[in-house]
Amino acid sequence: MTTSTTEKWLSPQGLLWASVAVACITIALKTLAWYLTDSVGLLSDAMESLVNLASAVFGLMMVTIAAKPADEDHPYGHHKAEYFSSGFEGILIVVAALGIIWAASHRLFDPQPIEQVGLGLALSVASSALNGVLAWVMFGAAKTHNSIALEADARHLVTDVWTSAGVVLGIGLVTYTGWFWMDALVAMGVALNILKEGGHLIWSASQGLMDEAVEPDVQARIYAVLDELSLSREEEGGAPVKVIHFDHVITRKAGQRRFVDLHMHMPAEWTLGHAASLRGNVERTLMQTVPGLRVTIQLLPNGVEAHLDDPIDTHR
Ligand SMILES: [Zn+2]
Repeated sequence: MTTSTTEKWLSPQGLLWASVAVACITIALKTLAWYLTDSVGLLSDAMESLVNLASAVFGLMMVTIAAKPADEDHPYGHHKAEYFSSGFEGILIVVAALGIIWAASHRLFDPQPIEQVGLGLALSVASSALNGVLAWVMFGAAKTHNSIALEADARHLVTDVWTSAGVVLGIGLVTYTGWFWMDALVAMGVALNILKEGGHLIWSASQGLMDEAVEPDVQARIYAVLDELSLSREEEGGAPVKVIHFDHVITRKAGQRRFVDLHMHMPAEWTLGHAASLRGNVERTLMQTVPGLRVTIQLLPNGVEAHLDDPIDTHR
């Protein structure tokens, strides 16, 4: 392989495509293992790989569609695209988990012997090895490219390796003891874990679609900058009078993007040129403090609000 080909495959996009392919192979191998053994534990392991497929597709969405620059039809960018994919994948995963629980609960009361255990477990171990190698390469690349999408996907792969190890141990124990009902218990344990993952995906997607505020620590950094840049004058014998102050500060998050909207109030007699240069300074400082932040500042004279129904914000 030439250097450029290697680089292409080790790029976040190349690795995520590799991850999609490996997830498909894993699902096929594990489904075959279930088919050969008739073990619901191995079926649940195959379904767990669905989480990997979802995670890889989700990552691809993040690095392709969500990263697309803003265009005429989507002037704010495409960051919310990832919420659709993660929400949809979450629903898919929850359905898969419920299906396993349904199948396993039947098996609990009507245990079936497991067949061709050796071959089934070998297939499971082989696919886990594949996942393990991929996760190791991806962790390295995630560091090089500073990619959240790659790191999240690699983490899912590692979880999958551990789940498979648990399933292989469980099935081995079932065969050793002859307690075939334990196969159903293993399956249910895995299914509950998958259910949790799916629920988490749906929850975070719904929060994102509802314009969740930025993280508390980012909010704190924004407020610290605004406090720093506010200005008040001490009146003799009276309370300090605000010269420059900020209010109506609202934030929202869309994928990797952060947004803040705020009012900047200052004396009505200052020139527009002076006001604009101060505004520029606030914007620059905020963007330096929170990389990737998009700042919208409305300039207003003191004592005047932007909309007639705006309450005077006494908070700041
Ligand atoms: Zn205001």
